[in-house]
Amino acid sequence: MDYGPAPESQKEAQAWLDGHQRKFGLFIDNAWSEPAELFASTNPADGTQLAELTQATDADVERAVEAARRALPVWQGMGGHGRAKVMYALARLLQKHSRLFAVLETLDNGKTIRETRDIDLPLAARHFYHHAGWAQLQSEEFADYRAVGVVGQIVPWNFPLLMLSWKIAPALAAGNTVVFKPAEFTSLTAMLFAELCLQAGVPAGVVNIVTGDGRVGSAIVNHPGVDKIAFTGSTEVGRLIREATAGSGKKLSLELGGKSPFIVFEDADLDGAVEGLVDSIWFNQGQVCCAGSRLLVQESIQERFLNKVRARMENLRLGSPLDKSMDVGALVDPVQRQRIAALVDSARAEGCDVWQPACELPADGSWFPPTLITGASTSAAVAQAEIFGPVLVAMSFRTPPEAVQLANNTVYGLAASVWTESISLALDIAPAIKAGVVWINSANQFDAACGFGGYRESGFGREGGREGMLEYMTALAEDARPALPVVEAKAKGNVKPAAADPFAIDRTAKMYIGGKQARPDSAYSAPVFGANGALLAEVGVGSRKDIRNAVEAAHKASGWTSATAHNRAQVLYYIAENLAARADEFAARIAAMTGSKNPEKEVQASIERLFYYAAWADKYDGLAHQPPTKGITVALNEAVGVIGIVCPNEAPLLGFISLVAPAIALGNRVVVVPSEAHPLSALDLYQVFDTSDLPGGVVNIISGNADELARTLATHADIDAVWRHDGSAEGCAEVERLSAGTLKRTWVGGAKGRDWYSAAQSGGRAVLAHASQVKNVWIPYGV
Ligand code: NDP
Repeated sequence: MDYGPAPESQKEAQAWLDGHQRKFGLFIDNAWSEPAELFASTNPADGTQLAELTQATDADVERAVEAARRALPVWQGMGGHGRAKVMYALARLLQKHSRLFAVLETLDNGKTIRETRDIDLPLAARHFYHHAGWAQLQSEEFADYRAVGVVGQIVPWNFPLLMLSWKIAPALAAGNTVVFKPAEFTSLTAMLFAELCLQAGVPAGVVNIVTGDGRVGSAIVNHPGVDKIAFTGSTEVGRLIREATAGSGKKLSLELGGKSPFIVFEDADLDGAVEGLVDSIWFNQGQVCCAGSRLLVQESIQERFLNKVRARMENLRLGSPLDKSMDVGALVDPVQRQRIAALVDSARAEGCDVWQPACELPADGSWFPPTLITGASTSAAVAQAEIFGPVLVAMSFRTPPEAVQLANNTVYGLAASVWTESISLALDIAPAIKAGVVWINSANQFDAACGFGGYRESGFGREGGREGMLEYMTALAEDARPALPVVEAKAKGNVKPAAADPFAIDRTAKMYIGGKQARPDSAYSAPVFGANGALLAEVGVGSRKDIRNAVEAAHKASGWTSATAHNRAQVLYYIAENLAARADEFAARIAAMTGSKNPEKEVQASIERLFYYAAWADKYDGLAHQPPTKGITVALNEAVGVIGIVCPNEAPLLGFISLVAPAIALGNRVVVVPSEAHPLSALDLYQVFDTSDLPGGVVNIISGNADELARTLATHADIDAVWRHDGSAEGCAEVERLSAGTLKRTWVGGAKGRDWYSAAQSGGRAVLAHASQVKNVWIPYGV
């Protein structure tokens, strides 16, 4: 069948550009600056220049941050309803001007009008509607939180307006003000959005838009007046931002790259799966962070399925993005085309089979044909690197466990698509895949009510849903944290002889690895002095090797994560029971270490905290969202994995329990460094654990130098998160900086203290959120 051309008119969009003399300044404090130091924005479909934009300077970023700071009281003073009305107006305006936005986006980005018109615009408007609702409900639903403050937001070029709405809508709903940087290639719809802000009555300084290249992003990231950075882009730049913000106290969310698996089982609806694949890897020319770029197909149907895929690829229409019947548009820039071509060439050089349908590429502009690669090894560059183009790499598997293994064979963890007619198989596979989103019998589904974001090197934090709102808020309890109590962490030097005890037998406080007492690999011990200066005991000095052994043991204890929440709760209750049975002994230990006058209070609070998290273990449930599609999206609170924990020096037993209990209650396994100054009550706990049915490897305890051990935890490739709460500002900054290597999640206390007795500061959903990550599983139903 032949198709005639069905071009969408670009008259209005070109007129809008003409109306601005095709030159744009910066949008700061509700005013446009004079265009200066211009750079060009081109149409990737034909290479023509569309407009020129201003490269913002550091001084411009300064002005934008100041304006945002000034606007905070105004915006927050409007209250939830006031903000909701403005955001509702923004949503309406996006709808009223949707075609202008869609055409402008297509001209600027090269994606097809079908996608901008039917996907990007409706989703962008939906984001503002949904978050207008959160603004309205904020005081009720987030009563214990406040807005973070001034938020810096940086986005890439693949979904310019949609990413803008994902960033700006939740930030505004929560009462923040923003300094937003669009991508250099695609800033035009952000300029049009600025006009809507004026029309919708957004107060001056609430939304500031600064254009330019990575230097502008960097200026925002490093500005001391910015309280939070929300970034979407490459893992490489995400890492730089993690390092740059380390120790600054800035809140951070990172939405980074992916290499998402698209898994097809032999019982799947194969034609449905082929269409899903088209939406997964050829949507937006594959320039999608969650593109299903790795096809994993069951061996028994491999040939049949790949033949169907090839037949469908022959029918994909590539050409003018403004033609309403095109499936594949232009790549954003020739640079991107070269990058994709180089990766595909590397596959050819490695002997892979590279197949492309007969397809005529337009003479001008930036194009790449839909491509299927087979015969790649699992370690091939095309199987591991994010190609970010219309290139699919296919592999086969035999069994469901093998599918999971292949799916997880990547440093990323953004999304996955699972195709099978067996709901039981699909729901068995979904939790096993390390990814923030799993689409069952569907692909690339998004909605404002459902969180989106990654595991592992795909970043942390979520956009959308309740969890997305929390990224833009700070718990009020954090503001109430006390200054750090002074605890002498080192030996006092002035050693007094211990009082003579007729029953004394030298007792060595050992470390605890894999459910067994362990001697330090270094064979060094360090003295622990009591409050009265007397030598209390000597503890092992843990080293890199001990941490390695502990991490290995923690990984082996994965059965704890798959155990039922009821089972984990029972173990926590049992630990509390056994601690209570030895309360006097623990109280005496605390008194001897810290000189506490009321050590029983700390033991009692520790027992209560164990009960508290045992209670939460089977109640920290997920949610079932009802997005506007036929289906449900189940938001699961999953364990993070293996967490390294550095405990506080104050309240050495309660601090330890307050961090370890929530982590293990939700199924994590931990490697814990107890208080460096007062480690003994934590080391004594192994006797309690041993009698409480806690499986070996779930809790591992390594005593020693907190700085050195924290460094090892933060750089260990098989640790998923690091928490540090010993009051060392430098040490916390280092943990954040070093964790950038594998983009671990971090929770650090900085130089402030924490009232470990306070349920608000040391308990509640805010702590549980650190111990979990949300996975959204999309389950469509019906025919
Ligand atoms: P980049 O990471 O290069 O750029 C993203 C944004 O950051 C752009 O606005 C860019 O500016 C800016 N930037 C560049 N350098 C710095 C810096 N040092 N400090 C602060 N900001 C900086 O990604 P791309 O634009 O190349 O986008 C493609 C990548 O983004 C892909 O790898 C893709 O996986 C990822 N991505 C992830 C998504 C997700 O949701 N997880 C969604 C979309 C894309 P400029 O445009 O001027 O270079």
